[in-house]
Amino acid sequence: MYFLFAKNLFRLISLSAILLLAACQPPEAEVWPENPGGNRLQIVTSFSLLQEWVEAVGGDAVVVRSFVGPEGDPHTYQARPGDLRKMVDAAVVFGIGFEFESWLPRLHRSSETPAPLILLAESLPAESLLDGHHCDEHEHGHDHHHHHDHLHDLPDPHLWMDIRMTQKLIDLIEAELTTIQPEQADVFAENAKAYQEKLTLLDRQLVSWISTVPEENRKLFTGHDVFAYFAERFGFEVIGSALGSASTETKDPGAGEIRELIQRIRDSGVQVVFPEAGSDSRAVRRIAEEADVAVAPDLYTDYLSLPDGPAYTYTEMMRHNVRTIVEALGGTVADEDE
Ligand SMILES: [Zn+2]
Repeated sequence: MYFLFAKNLFRLISLSAILLLAACQPPEAEVWPENPGGNRLQIVTSFSLLQEWVEAVGGDAVVVRSFVGPEGDPHTYQARPGDLRKMVDAAVVFGIGFEFESWLPRLHRSSETPAPLILLAESLPAESLLDGHHCDEHEHGHDHHHHHDHLHDLPDPHLWMDIRMTQKLIDLIEAELTTIQPEQADVFAENAKAYQEKLTLLDRQLVSWISTVPEENRKLFTGHDVFAYFAERFGFEVIGSALGSASTETKDPGAGEIRELIQRIRDSGVQVVFPEAGSDSRAVRRIAEEADVAVAPDLYTDYLSLPDGPAYTYTEMMRHNVRTIVEALGGTVADEDE
């Protein structure tokens, strides 16, 4: 046991050195809670939403730690030397896949952890997924931009914007945890069922809120391309996004693209646009100003807020988003529904 530990440690030190050379930002102080030990399954997730879902299914049988926490953007996360060590004792590592967290597969490989990497969206049947044409464009806000032409063929990874898709992720998490620890199958099944019921109620509530929005107002212009599943589920049309249609070579959309986006907003009759927390909302605001339309409060799409924010759980995140959208587009959210 000790030998194994020492061997792993040496391997990690040398890998860390390699990563350290490659990292282009100084390591920050980070919060990575100590493993409490015992026989709870140790699980690592890529980002805050996944952490919540795995904790919901795993309950007391698991300890879940996430590379990217609340208020952290998984698209632009930069792996740090200490990240390799985080996977050593894990039973499984969960990600979304389809380049949502493009740094994860390489990090997982470098760690040489025996823990499998499960990319949940990539485990779903292809026909249940929507096309994504711009995963790489999420990298705006980065200092580095590269050509990733092959990414244009990947499905859109933002499937949690449709609650029924999240329910499929919960099923996958339950199946995976049950495979790893079959003796806890009943616990996982019970936890998953309780969370699924919560999601079913949430979906129903959001459908009812959205039903108050006049059909002709159901149009979205957002920060980045993250609303495809949402639009499909709730009957919206995605007019465009500030960053999603920008070139991969520049940080912000160029002058020509901005003109085109403004024209699209005018043609569509959109009166209000929706920036997202964290993603570069400067571009959205600039476009809104030039198009002379209103700007709604920030939506949360790719991660949770801190506990005192409006999106501290997945259900609160979706309620916050839908409430914001409904109220900005002429619908109403009844107080007793809140
Ligand atoms: Zn995104």
